[in-house]
Amino acid sequence: MNGEPQSPAPDSGTPEGARLDPFGWWEYDLRNGRVEWDPRARRILGIPGSGVLTLDRARSVIHPDDLALADAVLAEALKPGGSGHYSVQKRINRADGDRWVRTIGHIQHDEDGEPVRLIGIVEDITYAVDADRPFESAITGSDIILAHYDTDLRYTWVYNADPHFEAHAAVGHRDDELAPPESVAELTALKRETIDQDRELSRVVEVIVAGEPRYYTVHARPLHGPSGAVVGAVTAAAEVTEPVLSERAAREASEAKSRLMSLVSHELRTPLAGILGHADLLEQGVPVEIPEEALEHVRRIQTGVTHMHALIDELLTFARLEAGRERPEVNTVAPADVAREAISLVDGAAREEGLDLRLETVDGLPDLRTDGRRVVQLLVNLLGNAIKYTEDGAVTLRVERTGEHCLFHVIDTGIGIAEDHLDKIFEPFWRAPRSDGSGRRGNGLGLPVALQTARLLNGDIEVSSRVGEGSRLTLHLPLTD
Ligand code: ADP
Repeated sequence: MNGEPQSPAPDSGTPEGARLDPFGWWEYDLRNGRVEWDPRARRILGIPGSGVLTLDRARSVIHPDDLALADAVLAEALKPGGSGHYSVQKRINRADGDRWVRTIGHIQHDEDGEPVRLIGIVEDITYAVDADRPFESAITGSDIILAHYDTDLRYTWVYNADPHFEAHAAVGHRDDELAPPESVAELTALKRETIDQDRELSRVVEVIVAGEPRYYTVHARPLHGPSGAVVGAVTAAAEVTEPVLSERAAREASEAKSRLMSLVSHELRTPLAGILGHADLLEQGVPVEIPEEALEHVRRIQTGVTHMHALIDELLTFARLEAGRERPEVNTVAPADVAREAISLVDGAAREEGLDLRLETVDGLPDLRTDGRRVVQLLVNLLGNAIKYTEDGAVTLRVERTGEHCLFHVIDTGIGIAEDHLDKIFEPFWRAPRSDGSGRRGNGLGLPVALQTARLLNGDIEVSSRVGEGSRLTLHLPLTD
């Protein structure tokens, strides 16, 4: 193989990987009987490692029921005067279960017309077969276009062209003769680079067909003559227009949301800060002392504005977390320090409510590699809820270790959460109905923000509760990063 593909391949073992990068290369050297698979093909076939294999080892992964068929198709392809094409659908025994693969190949000859190797691709079609599509339609029409071209980029053969491309007319021509050069510019550039730089490339390219952009995952490999010189290249291409466009639409929607959020942030937050500033001045008697009756109104303005400010901040944090724009700032922190800081920040609120606030830690907790500031915020969020939804009794923060996780339990003796609400409390804007006794309600964003933050830190939040007895929300954080 001539080096690794240019961009890392998505994992073909996942539905998304199989969708965007469904195939790998193989090459069967007819002179020494050895088979070489690139890393993608090995992953599809479940043979770890790298390097060449014997044909027998390659055959050993084929399902026993499909072996005779695979052998017959190979013999047919190699027969003197045969088609020179190899195409078969077969099952592969992989450690994680059987897979369906489609293998397509083409014989290459040397200058004397002697067959020297069979080169082709293997495609994982398990997801197509599993998707309940009728099996025949899944295996008859491959979506992959395989083509061979010379150093002048002229096609020498095209296998399985898609409907946008007239295969029979293509042989002997270059893409930029078959279509306006600018509409195939990225494809031509990829092919040119493969030949000129003598290296294997993988890229998603845009091709304009009938005025519309289409996207293809294209893998290109140079081919070498007996002297080692590049004599042409093969490409395997699969159309990925739908996933590329849907990913782009999702990205654009997320960017539009972010723009809206930053607009909200500027247009609402800034004037609010101004209002708060003026209210503070009035309260402090600037420019003149105001009567006590009027001061009461000023304090209400302060409370309302402070609440709105907090809500906007929470909305912005939620939007940023959802858009994946938050990055943790990892440092080394002692779990007990983080817990102590969070407790100190809610101490006043707990005292105002007449609640007993406790911290329980054990000795010898290992340090965490995490974003300490965010962990404190998250714990303040959980502790704030515990205080808000507890009439009397205690709120406890208990820190302990189990296995590879550090656990922060926030335990209260409050109103509790009904069992059928336990999976709802993490949904944005969800709040328990007033009938549950949660008279002091927030905006329903606290827990979604907490959960997203926990996940950002590779952790999670678990909840257990009994109505009327209290709740326990537990933050799990991994001890190793
Ligand atoms: P809010 O701002 O409304 O508190 P959260 O997202 O923080 O929003 O919580 C969502 C809902 O979950 C709350 O409205 C409340 O009904 C419930 N909840 C959260 N924490 C507790 C708790 N410790 N005890 C009882 N109910 C809780």
